[in-house]
Amino acid sequence: MLRLIIFVILCYILYRLVKSLALPSPKKPGKSPIRSSETITDEMVMDPNCHVYIPKREAIKAKIAGETIYFCSKECKKKYLKEKNR
Ligand SMILES: [Zn+2]
Repeated sequence: MLRLIIFVILCYILYRLVKSLALPSPKKPGKSPIRSSETITDEMVMDPNCHVYIPKREAIKAKIAGETIYFCSKECKKKYLKEKNR
């Protein structure tokens, strides 16, 4: 009978050990360590006027028909808007 109790206790300790090793941080289940803001800065966008690729953070933003369009310069934005309105 005593051997059975020891066996059960050992099993319980082993179970706790495996559980703590398998799940190091069970308090935060849905959060990933990768920051999404860092990937946005390296994203390249195309200027629809001169077809040049520019980094998103350096591009000139314009909201046209609910869509965000990026330009390399203000001149390109002006030209593109002129073409659109024709
Ligand atoms: Zn351009």
